[in-house]
Amino acid sequence: MKDVLERFLFDNAPVRGELVQLEATYQEVLNRHDYPAILRERLGELMAAGALLSAMLKFDGTLIMQMHGPGALQLLVVEVTSEKTLRATARWDAEKIAAAPSDWSIAELLGGGRFFITLDPRVGEPYQGVVGMQAGQTVAQIIEHYMTHSEQLDTRLWLACQDGMAAGMMLQKMPAQDDAEQSWEHLVTLADTVKHEELLQLPPRETLYRLFHEDSVRVFEPATPRFACTCSRERVGGMIKLMERPEVDELLAERGQVHVVCDFCGKEYGFDAVDVGALFATHEAPGSTAIQ
Ligand SMILES: [Zn+2]
Repeated sequence: MKDVLERFLFDNAPVRGELVQLEATYQEVLNRHDYPAILRERLGELMAAGALLSAMLKFDGTLIMQMHGPGALQLLVVEVTSEKTLRATARWDAEKIAAAPSDWSIAELLGGGRFFITLDPRVGEPYQGVVGMQAGQTVAQIIEHYMTHSEQLDTRLWLACQDGMAAGMMLQKMPAQDDAEQSWEHLVTLADTVKHEELLQLPPRETLYRLFHEDSVRVFEPATPRFACTCSRERVGGMIKLMERPEVDELLAERGQVHVVCDFCGKEYGFDAVDVGALFATHEAPGSTAIQ
């Protein structure tokens, strides 16, 4: 399985880049829901874009791409941690998606919804940005536009998704230097010749050599992205605590337990009456005194 993320720099140009291939990681996501073809592709593109973005932003925590809307696509979430673990899921309207043209863009699929990117650092407050999108825009165009505006740095993105593989490449111009513009245009022109098959099939270093061998490209130790879910019994309990108690009691009365299935990984969690009682109880450990 090819799951690799390569970062690269150029000796003679203030431009940095990354190339990612997701195979096992992408298939772990596909295996968990019976996604319609059009969503498989968009989901793969967004996973590749998320992995590239998260590495480019170099922050410690979780990057969350989340979109929702009233259209054929109701919800799509991609999360990438700074440890390069990914998880993703989507919900859709089966009838509407069956009728959707195969070339519909994300904005058309969502039917006028919203797209947010949240940076949730391990320490400190989360930051959420609204991602602008228009009908007909590709995922790459949407993310390029977002990066260029939020980071104030020119960014270009190439994405490919096919046959259980998702891949992408990103170039970003580093903060201004005198000759930056010319070398940036030159490298983008070269990168623009990359074929989808190359992004998906060739080892990343071979693709980089093919594109940039005359421009002294330098790579680093590659990272290995992988699928992992961050759900836990504690987090699911936290979600149940956000519900109204009578609502929870109703579920308990109907089924004997509150049954929750994680949308991302399929893991099942059961909370019976005793568990629910403990969740909603005020915890006062025997022999302890609260400090006010
Ligand atoms: Zn999970």
